[in-house]
Amino acid sequence: MTDAADLAARVQAGEVRLHELEQHADADVAAEARRLILTEETEADLDAIGAYTFDAADAGPNIENMVGAAQVPMGIVGPIHVDGGAVERAKHLPLATTEGALVASVNRGCAAIRAADGATARVLKNAMTRAPVFRVADVGEASEVASWVRENVDELAAAAESTTNHGELRDVTPYVVGDNVFLRFAYDTKDAMGMNMATIATEQACERVVESTPAELVALSGNLCSDKKPAAINSIEGRGRTVAADVEIPRDVVESYFKTTPEAIAEANTRKNLIGSAKAGSLGFNAHAANTVAAAFLATGQDIAQVVEGANAITTADVREEGLYASVTLASLEVGTVGGGTNLPTQAEALDVIGVSGGGDPAGANADALAEVIATAALAGELSLLGALASNHLASAHEELGR
Ligand code: NAP
Repeated sequence: MTDAADLAARVQAGEVRLHELEQHADADVAAEARRLILTEETEADLDAIGAYTFDAADAGPNIENMVGAAQVPMGIVGPIHVDGGAVERAKHLPLATTEGALVASVNRGCAAIRAADGATARVLKNAMTRAPVFRVADVGEASEVASWVRENVDELAAAAESTTNHGELRDVTPYVVGDNVFLRFAYDTKDAMGMNMATIATEQACERVVESTPAELVALSGNLCSDKKPAAINSIEGRGRTVAADVEIPRDVVESYFKTTPEAIAEANTRKNLIGSAKAGSLGFNAHAANTVAAAFLATGQDIAQVVEGANAITTADVREEGLYASVTLASLEVGTVGGGTNLPTQAEALDVIGVSGGGDPAGANADALAEVIATAALAGELSLLGALASNHLASAHEELGR
């Protein structure tokens, strides 16, 4: 068996390429060899990066040129009391972050939600999308292609679903721009976030479109999907899970947990999250939903770049007779409990804490539950930050906890 020093020497002699090391040694030795080379070339100490606890071979599908692991501190919030469509009881949610005060802030919101007898959360829509772009001769041909697609959704569904045991094609929406036809395919991907699943299925459906119409496929992803880019279509139509959480908090609970009033929180929400965001041309009308989404994504093995879509959230806050009504609606929360990074050991443990690791019963129930828990935690984070702003102690909380 080749040891790491030998392997590193062979790379430096030009006999083996850096990305080929797993062909000559096991994955842990390959990673160690890369660290030796990097340390020699950069003089950086990589002891912490190399001190990971999982088997590097298990990360094979998730990484190339592996040198180690980025370890981010993980905290816990909860219990989160939520009456969900898929969540049945109180849940704890692991959050991985480097932002001091974030976990404490979300946890304060969770405590207020508990004191208010819990939140309600529901997944409202489930549709992972992929939108290929086709070339046609002119708008006449574009119209012909769009009509054919509308009349043949069943045939497209049969082709798409032949590639997957779980995915179901729910909808195909044509969009025409001159001599371009975009087809936005939307799938129920059950417990998978579904981006690979939807891409593979769409490729098969595209073959039918090309066989049966004059359209020529230019790119399997035409950016109208829209993955990992800020896009109004995701805010309006949704992508992944569209999920909402709300809570009614009695006045005395608002006063005791947030040291402010329902009126002050509602005013801060209107002026900041609604008017300020509108003036900024923002897609996210919220205080910091991305904070909770990103920390939950990192902890549970989601695709962290999809925080772009996860931040498409609108927060509302209104004074009611009993106290404060608040909600957060995340239009495009892309989460899974199978596939992607969810199988990695620390991420799978984090999903176990929530009780949603692996496939749900029925399929899709675990990803729905995860979406509902994240949405409720995001609501807790919104309440806590709005409360801090309304009571004017945001800066002092960061000074005490984060610096
Ligand atoms: P995946 O790891 O590629 O596939 C997960 C598979 O799990 C599914 O295809 C499904 O197989 C199977 N499965 C088993 N039990 C299931 C259940 N209960 N519900 C649903 N599926 C179940 O994961 P993915 O979610 O499709 O894609 C996520 C990955 O895509 C991430 O790694 C992400 O970073 C990456 N990504 C890809 C693209 C792209 O354009 N391709 C873009 C962004 C991100 P069957 O299909 O046979 O049912």
